[in-house]
Amino acid sequence: MPVISVVVPCFDESEVLGAFHDALTAALERTGERFEICYVDDGSTDGTVERLRDLAAAAPQVRYTSFSRNFGKEAAMLAGMRMSRGAVVVLMDADLQHPPELVPRMLQLHRHGYDQVVARRDRTGEGIVRTVLSRAYYRLVRHFTDVEIVDGAGDFRLLSRRAVNAVLSLPEGNRFSKGLFSWVGFDTVSFTYPNVRRAGGRSKWGGRRLINYGIDGLLSFNSRPLRLAIHTGLWLFLSAVLYALWIVANTVLNGVETPGYATLITAVVALSGIQLATLGVIGEYVGRIHHEAKRRPHYVVRETDRSGPARGTAGLPPSAVARVRPEP
Ligand code: UDP
Ligand code: MG
Repeated sequence: MPVISVVVPCFDESEVLGAFHDALTAALERTGERFEICYVDDGSTDGTVERLRDLAAAAPQVRYTSFSRNFGKEAAMLAGMRMSRGAVVVLMDADLQHPPELVPRMLQLHRHGYDQVVARRDRTGEGIVRTVLSRAYYRLVRHFTDVEIVDGAGDFRLLSRRAVNAVLSLPEGNRFSKGLFSWVGFDTVSFTYPNVRRAGGRSKWGGRRLINYGIDGLLSFNSRPLRLAIHTGLWLFLSAVLYALWIVANTVLNGVETPGYATLITAVVALSGIQLATLGVIGEYVGRIHHEAKRRPHYVVRETDRSGPARGTAGLPPSAVARVRPEP
């Protein structure tokens, strides 16, 4: 049985996979421990699977699972953790933004008794707009959720076996790993490393994907946003009552006045806005219930290192293999 399992989700990473694999193997060999590398191909269309097949054929420590289409990084990390057999599991990206040289240091910290070792990146070399928005977002999340989610603490982390088992025991379909890791608890330590640029290929996190991810983070952990709606409603009701009292008093003291058209329209528009936003929040939760109620698996496997290449596609160039595109 390996001591260290490294889980690597890969989506269209054929450009950097070779360099990443060499760097990771070198770093792992330096630890002197038995290790395995669990690659998860998340429905890549650029020949990543073919590379994984070659790597697995060349080294017994390399294992892989390939999805039938793109299911997202969360699903890929879940599949990797399920595959892993090691006493500790390290999760990292394939694009060399998570430096493999840090793995020995994480292992060392784990030996000091920590169940989770988090490597946090700082924000050097990142656009000012993105930095400011991220900071604001994390402040918001901290305010609205019960779990602690730290800025810069991504998915680059080491987990002990019992922490991995705890994460795997959470059954939800809508997985927001940053929150799940924090939810399971255990002693956690973190250290910071300077941000690294992608070694090649493109980031898959465009603006919209990032915003949706952000909404997931806010709503996945509790119903506090709904509580905010209740609070807003109560305050509005209270101010309406006070305003009504003021109007009555004014009418009694000064006689009837012509009612203000502007006040009326402002109140109507403001209230409709709040109602629509609240409806949206409720809708999000209902959507999540609907999603969970279907109890679908998190991903579908096309092939693994055991099953070998999927029938009929072996040897064909990647462009010749029809792939189902993810739903938008
Ligand atoms: N990834 C994945 N599935 C996806 C998107 C990304 O498995 O749908 C993987 C990707 O191959 C990489 C990691 O998740 O190993 C981080 O992705 P990326 O570098 O695009 O994100 P960023 O570093 O820009 O946040
Ligand atoms: Mg990256």
